[in-house]
Amino acid sequence: MTGEEIFTYAKKNLEMPEGSTLSEQLMFGIARNICKAWRDGLITEQQAHIEKNMAIQTFGVQQLSEKINSDYSKRWNEVMIILSEAHKKCGCEYCSKIERILDGRG
Ligand SMILES: [Zn+2]
Repeated sequence: MTGEEIFTYAKKNLEMPEGSTLSEQLMFGIARNICKAWRDGLITEQQAHIEKNMAIQTFGVQQLSEKINSDYSKRWNEVMIILSEAHKKCGCEYCSKIERILDGRG
């Protein structure tokens, strides 16, 4: 989902769709707070737009970070599986060293 779409959900007082990511859920909470602050007259429309743009920018960075972490985690798991196989077949000191570093034993 884009930040604009999330703001639309918040403006219409809709629930977020199931299966949304952590960054989408956080963005929705922020969007709802900005919309409520504007409706309650705590901030001007201009302030609401400024805060909305800032939130959308931050959301973009968070989404990218989430994707990078997810991709890295998948790659890490693949490497651990292959390394475990390599260590069983090879068992040399280099395999052992790499395995100890990757599984946190140093
Ligand atoms: Zn080896």
